[in-house]
Amino acid sequence: MNERIYLSPPHMGDQERELLLDAFDSNWIAPLGPHVDAFEQEFCEVTGACHAAALSSGTAAIHLALILAGVGPGDEVLVSTLTFSATINPIYYVGATPVFVDSDHATWNMDPALVCEEMERRAATGNLPKALILVHLYGQAADTQPIADACEKYGIALIEDAAEALGARYHGEQPGASARFAIYSFNGNKIITNSGGGMLTSNDPSVTEAARKLSTQAREPAPHYQHKEIGYNYRMSNLLAAVGRGQLHVLDQRVDARRANYDEYTKLFGDTPGIHFMPEPEGFRSTRWLTCVLINPKEFGASREQVRKHLESLNIEARPVWKPMHQQPAFQGSPCIGGKVADHLFELGLCLPSGSNLTGEQRERVVSAMLATPTRPAAFPRV
Ligand SMILES: *Cc1c(COP(=O)(O)O)cnc(C)c1O
Repeated sequence: MNERIYLSPPHMGDQERELLLDAFDSNWIAPLGPHVDAFEQEFCEVTGACHAAALSSGTAAIHLALILAGVGPGDEVLVSTLTFSATINPIYYVGATPVFVDSDHATWNMDPALVCEEMERRAATGNLPKALILVHLYGQAADTQPIADACEKYGIALIEDAAEALGARYHGEQPGASARFAIYSFNGNKIITNSGGGMLTSNDPSVTEAARKLSTQAREPAPHYQHKEIGYNYRMSNLLAAVGRGQLHVLDQRVDARRANYDEYTKLFGDTPGIHFMPEPEGFRSTRWLTCVLINPKEFGASREQVRKHLESLNIEARPVWKPMHQQPAFQGSPCIGGKVADHLFELGLCLPSGSNLTGEQRERVVSAMLATPTRPAAFPRV
């Protein structure tokens, strides 16, 4: 059996082990400590964010952002339908409900035209949402400016979910870097990982200060344990912050490696009919966290699922593009504005193995296997 090719496995550099052992030997085995402080500071230096709070996960960061944006029971939150469920779950934690918004074809992210129309319509009836969570998917920024402008115009809190877009650029800037609320994730399959963790960044120091307090059980400054608010246990461990610092040092290399995967895949497919890569609009720089393709079954001679199953039979991990949230039983009953574009991306979309440690030989194995999907008629080229 061939060695398994994973979708997006962890990729440690030279420093992570050293930093982890330093944290261990210093006996700061706690959800705070010098590596947590340094990770927050270095994260700001690398991304251009002003203030950062290191947390136990990206999901925890979204939860705290919603709380700090004042979202509560009965509120509505506009949110991308094409995303991972971790974007949505915290909306329910605070007792609010999502209103899903479709993607556009240019970025696969939230369609700004739909957002602007919806806000105008709701403003007219005095029924505006409390917040909007904008997701930057698969390493690519959403078309953020028109959406941020609409949020500002109508006084709606904007939370940027950049869990998948660390290292990306939108008109030269890291997505979320100048936002009041932006979140990042260091889960095991993200572009850099510390096994599990998240970051909340803000242009306002009072936001990250409040997040640090809420994430450590909302302790008041007193010698005894004093609490005026409901708290959470969401702070990042010092051990994991040490690993995160090491990973941050190699972020640029990881982005280059992921983009090289994409370049190689496009070369290997050449002009094979029916394979369409996720676009990258002018002024955007995707990290290509995952290389995603749409497989047109009529042109390619095999469907997304036929290709994926064939890859799996050869021990190659590939995944369908996110199943839209408006199609998820857990979120039934929440409205969706549009939805056809996200449905289409899910139906045809496949994420190819994209690790920053993927080898040229492995990429060739992936493409050969896809071209040799058995349902393809003999007339189609095989390798
Ligand atoms: C991974 C991810 C999250 C959640 O991050 P965790 O650190 O796993 O909690 C949120 N949103 C998106 C889009 C993600 O891909």
